Amino acid sequence: MADTWKTRTKLVHEGSRRSQYGEMAEAIFLTQGFAYDSAEQAEARFIQSGPDEFIYARYGNPTTRMFEERIAALEGTEDAFATASGMAAVNGALTSMLRSGDHVVSARALFGSCLYILEDVLTRYGVRVTFVDGADLDQWRAAVTPDTKAVFFESMSNPTLELVDIAAVSQIAHEVGALVIVDNVFATPIFSRAVDQGADVVVYSTTKHIDGQGRALGGVICGSRDFVRKVAEPYLKHTGAAMSPFTSWIMLNGMATLDLRCRAMADSALAIATALQGHAKVTRMIYPGLSSHPQHKLAMRQIGSGGTMVAFDIAGGKEAAFRFMNALQIAKISNNLGDAKTIATHPATTTHQRLPDDQKARLGITPGLIRLSVGLEDAGDLIDDLLRGLAAA
Ligand SMILES: *Cc1c(COP(=O)(O)O)cnc(C)c1O
Repeated sequence: MADTWKTRTKLVHEGSRRSQYGEMAEAIFLTQGFAYDSAEQAEARFIQSGPDEFIYARYGNPTTRMFEERIAALEGTEDAFATASGMAAVNGALTSMLRSGDHVVSARALFGSCLYILEDVLTRYGVRVTFVDGADLDQWRAAVTPDTKAVFFESMSNPTLELVDIAAVSQIAHEVGALVIVDNVFATPIFSRAVDQGADVVVYSTTKHIDGQGRALGGVICGSRDFVRKVAEPYLKHTGAAMSPFTSWIMLNGMATLDLRCRAMADSALAIATALQGHAKVTRMIYPGLSSHPQHKLAMRQIGSGGTMVAFDIAGGKEAAFRFMNALQIAKISNNLGDAKTIATHPATTTHQRLPDDQKARLGITPGLIRLSVGLEDAGDLIDDLLRGLAAA
């Protein structure tokens, strides 16, 4: 709406549409279709629908449109398309633009399902994929060729929080005209400056911080109007990737508190990383917000924060890590992230279980590694809980 609005104002109001009743809360338009005033109107709408004209919920819905406009305003992109899950967004962004014979360069450290799309799905249709160590710019330079149509990476990797330099990789990709597609979940849309730093398309699993209360699956693709409406939308709407209106309503409500939540979680994450760093049983502390982190400067330039996730290694391997987790009383053992509730995950036996041992070792997924998604509880209570876990480890 107003160009001068700051983030928090946009998060509360951007994209809002009101019916003739003037309802305060965003309405859930739980409808698959829309009635036309006349056959002529139906015909006209199928030729070209205007910004507030809808045809079918798989193509678009007023509640979903509100969410798309709100997240696009936050991300600083012209448009966005909301999807049924984060994976539908990742798949849609890549598959919609790629053709047999195209080349993609991707960082190797990826969420398991993202790896499946790149390694198994795209290659089945004749797309060539080269994997690189995301933090090593020389590997990006060597892998990108004039045939490269897209580069893909998670800006902060799961679970070891390694950053990819968005500005530097974008420059390498843009020299050959490749599109830069960034999965920005761990950086969060609040700390994201992905587009400012050169990313062309930013995808989120809205299941994470945007919902923020662990209720609904969702995803979104943010990009230029041409990419979202001409490249991604035809693929997404015809293959059934749409976000449900009910989910869109959940995500809209999540947006209103997103800034407050992400900042509170990041403050607590820094407090936790500071408190646990140097503990006798913590052999490695990974938090980009600590000045001791090897990519601290990049984290500050790229996202201006250490983020809401902390990872650390516990001395004593898997047995000690399990004793730690089982002694926690506040943090839950689960595998979502960005939730109001703090979540402890043991990647080696859950989210990354299926990776071969040499891949785990290469990605730093050791038997003692814990990934912590810091929630909204009192930071002091959380530190006490984690110290209780470490005492039991
Ligand atoms: C969770 C996640 C996804 C997938 O999102 P879903 O909503 O579970 O489909 C993709 N990428 C990253 C980095 C994630 O954390």
